[in-house]
Parts: sequence; structure tokens; C-alpha cells
Amino acid sequence: MRAVREMTSGSPTGAASTLDVAALRRDFPILQTTVHGKPLVYLDNAATSQKPQAVLDTLSRYYAETNANVHRGLYQLSEASTRAYAEARLRVKNFIHARLKCEIIFTRGTTEGINLVAQTYGRQHVKAGDEILITHMEHHSNIVPWQVLCEEKGARLRVVPVTDAGELDLEAFQRMLSDRTRLAAVTYVSNALGTVNPVKELVAMAHARGVPVLVDGAQAVPHLAIDVLDLGCDFFVFSGHKMFGPTGIGVLYGRAELLEEMPPYQTGGDMILSVRFDKTIFNSLPHKFEAGTPDIAGAIGLGAAIDYLNHVGLDRIASHEAELLRYGTELLHSIDGVRILGNAAHKASVLSFVMDAAHPHDIGQMLDSEGIAIRAGHHCAQPLMERFDVPATARASLAFYNTREELDALGKALERVHEVFG
Ligand code: PMP
Repeated sequence: MRAVREMTSGSPTGAASTLDVAALRRDFPILQTTVHGKPLVYLDNAATSQKPQAVLDTLSRYYAETNANVHRGLYQLSEASTRAYAEARLRVKNFIHARLKCEIIFTRGTTEGINLVAQTYGRQHVKAGDEILITHMEHHSNIVPWQVLCEEKGARLRVVPVTDAGELDLEAFQRMLSDRTRLAAVTYVSNALGTVNPVKELVAMAHARGVPVLVDGAQAVPHLAIDVLDLGCDFFVFSGHKMFGPTGIGVLYGRAELLEEMPPYQTGGDMILSVRFDKTIFNSLPHKFEAGTPDIAGAIGLGAAIDYLNHVGLDRIASHEAELLRYGTELLHSIDGVRILGNAAHKASVLSFVMDAAHPHDIGQMLDSEGIAIRAGHHCAQPLMERFDVPATARASLAFYNTREELDALGKALERVHEVFG
């Protein structure tokens, strides 16, 4: 894996110093490109993030120099590939501060992680009359798997309301936990509003009622330092592609005691210890949940993304993004006819907004002609859109490599939208 010192450096003077964003941007080849003849202004990081050269190099070097299937070969290449895959698991374990390496299951992403828990833990524990607790700000991937499970079992999906500011109603969460609740599934950060939920507090409330908690960390991992032991959660899921890693790879963290008791999700090669036609014995953790050839390169690429994030520094990322969010919020407030959705006290760098004059799709299209990439739509959070009585929003979501100048370009383009449609 590429040594950290080879990368373009942020400011090397410690955690409190500011980021050298101009230098860091040079680590991302795509940020040097143009769209419609204009410099790319990439503000769709909540959908997926861009990849630094260190991750791209790790992927191509893996295929050029180490490619072989894991676990099976006795030859050098296979051993090297197996070792690199195991090291990637260790990097993830350290990144989220899990207790054990075997608690890290590689998946295709957040969606697969949630489906895995719903189809194994959920099917095992949820019975007719039971309840699953989610919130009104969940992404579809943290709604539908539970809805399907509840339909299958005759259980009830209960939804904790969200306030007008876009914060979770904590009293309602407390009140809605009951003796029938088998699991609470909550997002750490809302992709549509940017709200950061007080997950540690939610876990404590749920555990006081004996209810395990799954945390959807998809939007948290690029912005916040994660400590699953401190949060106390039972499951934590995320995707590599939102944290500067490759697509197609993600992680399910589960407490070993729970994972041990859960049946396998998929069956086949690698997840077995022995197979006879009359009986199969399943493999130990984490292999029990990783049937078939895994995304070896993806896992190793995710490991490189973790190295990169650690090098940049999550605390420095947080302060730069907080400053961008403050600047962007003021800027949007200064434009006639713009209304921001999601005004939580604790927010990640997501600016979701609507304009009196123009539909979000028109906004998206006009911005694209200026080289500015934002998202327009329901953000896979249709119940939340309904809650705020809008069909869609325009969303600018920021990463540490974004700048004030890019927000100024957004502001100028929105002024133009107002002129044209207003
Ligand atoms: N949860 C949240 C909060 C998300 O933002 C997303 C992606 N937009 C997902 C889950 C699903 O992630 P993936 O598509 O990588 O599985």
C-alpha cells in the first residue's frame, strides 16, 4: 500500500492546523478536469466522493502486481493477496475502533449491510406483533429492508418523527421504544438534511430497554471520527465509495456475540468449513458472512482510503467543513427565494434547498451548464420529502476538498437561476 509520506501533504503542523486544500485537491485527478469547458465544481459528495491518486494507484498496483484469489492458494501471490485483504480488514477495525477483526464483515455497501442484518438477525428475532423502530429521516435502504421483514413476519414498522428544523424528536424516540421493539435502525447523518443524530444517546436509550441498535453510518464516515465502542451500537454499516474509496465495497460491523448467533446470509464457497451432501459446517467469523470471492481489490482500496483520511486528519476535515457549511448557509440565505431544508443545530456539510422560482431539476440542469455538479431529487428519502411537503430538493454536499470559491460559483449560478426563472 502506498506510504502516507508519498502523498501530497495537508499542513503537517498538527491536528489544530488548517487544511492545505489547494495541495490536497491535487491528489484528486478528477478535480483538475473541466465540464462544458468550465472547471468541475463537484458538490455531490453525499452521493459519492471522488478518489485520490493514492487509492487509484493501490487498485492498479493490486491488479498489476498481486492479483490472485484469497484464502485458497499456497503460492506466493495468493498468500500476498490474502495478506493484503486481511490487512485491509485490520485498517477498517482500527478506523472504527472495533474490538475484534472478526467483527468486520466486507459487504458491497451500506445497502447490503442492512439487508444482511434484516435477513439474518431480523428473521431470527422478529415475530408477529413485534416492532422495528426507524426514523422519518432514513434513506430508503434503511426503510425498505425493515418494511419487507415486517410484512413477512406480521410485525410493525414504527417511525420516529422529525421536527421542522430536521432534528429527531428524542422524546418520541424514547416513548416509542417498547417491550415489543426488537431493533432500532437509525442514521448517524441524514443524507437529505445533513442532520447529525445523537447516536450515543439513542443507543443508551434503546439499550436501557434491551433494544439493539443498527447505525447507518454511510454519511458519517467521510466527516466524523467513528468509535463503535464509544457509541455502543450493535451494528454499524457504511460504504467505501462515500469515503474516498472504491465503489462496490462496504462494511458491516457487528458485535461478535450477535454475529456468532446469526445464521449466514448467503451460502457457497469460503463461508464453509466442510461440505457433505448430508451436512455443511459453516466457517467462523468473519468468513461465515463472506460467501464467494470477495471484492479483494475493493477492500484493499478501502484500506488505502482509510490511510488517506487518517493522513488528512478527521479533526481538520471537520473544522474545514464546518467553516464551509457556515459560509454556504449564509450564502444561500442571501439569495432571493432560496429556502434551506434542514436547520439542525448539529449538521454535516449538506445544503439541501428549494427555490420559489425553479424546480430542483431545473436548478440542477442550469448548474451543470456552469460545470457545477449538485443533486436534484428525493435523495432516496421520499418519506422525508413528504414530511417537508416538497417533491424534491436541490442538494449541495461538501467534502474537505471543496472551497469557498466553489461555493461562490454556486451562489453566482443560483443568482442566475433566480434571474432566468424568477
Ligand atoms: N444510507 C444513507 C444515509 C445514504 O446516504 C446512502 C447512499 N446515498 C445509503 C444508505 C446507501 O448506500 P449505498 O448505495 O452505498 O449502499
